[in-house]
Amino acid sequence: MNKKEKAVVVFSGGQDSTTCLFWAMERFEEVEAVTFDYNQRHSLEIECAQQIAKELGINHHILDMSLLNQLAPNALTRSDIAVEDGEDGELPSTFVPGRNLLFLSFAGVLASQIGAKHIVTGVCETDFSGYPDCRDVFVKSMNVTLNLSMDQSFVIDTPLMWLNKEETWELADQLGAFEFVRDKTLTCYNGVISDGCGECPACKLRQKGLDDYVSRRGDLS
Ligand SMILES: [Zn+2]
Repeated sequence: MNKKEKAVVVFSGGQDSTTCLFWAMERFEEVEAVTFDYNQRHSLEIECAQQIAKELGINHHILDMSLLNQLAPNALTRSDIAVEDGEDGELPSTFVPGRNLLFLSFAGVLASQIGAKHIVTGVCETDFSGYPDCRDVFVKSMNVTLNLSMDQSFVIDTPLMWLNKEETWELADQLGAFEFVRDKTLTCYNGVISDGCGECPACKLRQKGLDDYVSRRGDLS
């Protein structure tokens, strides 16, 4: 990859997108971040993203996407709906239909305006929890669509696409960002930074990956 190129990272302040931010900073000359504000369950998520971007000296765009809440009230946007895992092939209650489609579209418009060739997103097919617009085939299709819609040659980078949670921690470690990601990111559905509440599905997934990675790393050293 070309060090001289510019990238915009779709950034939520969580473990995955913060790891992507470090990944992009290592590869590209210029990196900016974009966060979508759709009245998340916890406005802390936006504050957390702002704080991380500030600390890393990254130019941070926060775009108002409150229309998403209007279209798809669910557990991520409404505090009166509980966060639950989907059962028997059902989508989890955190699903917002088309969320990634919209995020990548707006990230593409922003990339065009700021002259970024690369759009980096932390979507992942490995921990595929029923979100069709996190699949690799969707992202590739979206890449073609963005290029056709704006007559540009964007590259959508998905460094986490085939990693499990343990490998995502490993990547953060390789980027020298293990402690930063562990201590400063917000993954928890209950809005608790770092290790989180320990009870919600996001915390359990994050903690399991962390434990697996730390014990493997321990075995190696
Ligand atoms: Zn939690």
